[in-house]
Amino acid sequence: MFNENLINRFQSLETPFYYYDLALLQNTIDALVKAAPAEYHIHYALKANAHPTLLERIRAAGIGADCVSGNEVKRAVECGFKAEDIVFAGVGKSDKEINYALDQSIFSFNVESLHELQVLDQLSKNKNTKANIALRINPNVDAHTHKYITTGLEENKFGINPYEFDRVLSDLSNLKNLNFIGLHFHIGSQILDLNAFKSLCLRVNEINKWFIQKNYVPKHINLGGGLGVNYREPDTQNIVNFPEYFGIFKQFLELLPEQKVHFELGRCIVAQCGSLISRVLYIKNGINTNFAILDAGMTELIRPALYQAYHKIENISNTKGKEFKYDVVGPICESSDCFGKAVLMPETKRGDLIAIRTAGAYGEVMSNHYNLRDSVASVF
Ligand SMILES: *Cc1c(COP(=O)(O)O)cnc(C)c1O
Repeated sequence: MFNENLINRFQSLETPFYYYDLALLQNTIDALVKAAPAEYHIHYALKANAHPTLLERIRAAGIGADCVSGNEVKRAVECGFKAEDIVFAGVGKSDKEINYALDQSIFSFNVESLHELQVLDQLSKNKNTKANIALRINPNVDAHTHKYITTGLEENKFGINPYEFDRVLSDLSNLKNLNFIGLHFHIGSQILDLNAFKSLCLRVNEINKWFIQKNYVPKHINLGGGLGVNYREPDTQNIVNFPEYFGIFKQFLELLPEQKVHFELGRCIVAQCGSLISRVLYIKNGINTNFAILDAGMTELIRPALYQAYHKIENISNTKGKEFKYDVVGPICESSDCFGKAVLMPETKRGDLIAIRTAGAYGEVMSNHYNLRDSVASVF
């Protein structure tokens, strides 16, 4: 991914920064668009990375937007996504966020609780309008991923549970400012076992039939996102297998011909095109291990500290020679500020450039100012 020209360019830049390979992003988008059956509508989950430069490419390919906050809806609108292509999920939408999204007439509010139905109806009534809603259902399907990014189990806070369905329908019949358009599901993130998506399809088939029997025919079925990427070997598989992913839904979903299918993919579109580039500040020889202390820390990339996430770490200044083990850590005053333990790298010195790979998703967007750190830059 990093040729000599690029590394020379990096030498002249202040670190740390995010580097985005826009050619790889474009190839990923093209592969996605090619693999998605024409009748499938794709939305990009802005929370993975909301940088306008990336959003521009994604929007230009005809992909819609999936938002989880009012500011994400705003960003999508500002970056040219059409209101009719924007969906808005989230367990805790504030009145301000709902009012803003109502003013934009977005395609769908993905409603996560009975209480939210009442509030949304009232706010729509105040504006003398009607909100399109999809019910976010908790399907109780295990995504077999890290517990912090599992969202579709009964113990999770997301979505409406099946035991509430009768109540939902009786409420909906009274809430005149809501327009029921469909069902929404999202079971988690970084899902590598595609059987989880098969299980999801089978649950969706049952739940869909239940609503149809009750004469609430969902026009839209939104299956969320969650397709995982290869963090271990980013160069072997830098674009996910989209045909295999969509093939599962083609094979197992049983819908009425007029029902439309939606997806909300985030990570698998942007993860591989981004790397966090940093410099080694110090080498410190510990008792059991050597530390390579970087000028980037958990303030720039929090995934390892937050959910023990693995990222491949490379010394791109020195790629040859005998390898040594380093604990690669940041400067932040927290012991969890560690990018990787016992990472094998050729001899590493002060000033070497270190690339932390597969950082395009849930990287820059989660960066923060703890320890009064500067904002992280982005380079394309
Ligand atoms: C985070 C999220 C997504 C995207 O998940 P990825 O794993 O990045 O594909 C989709 N839908 C909802 C509702 C989300 O919260």
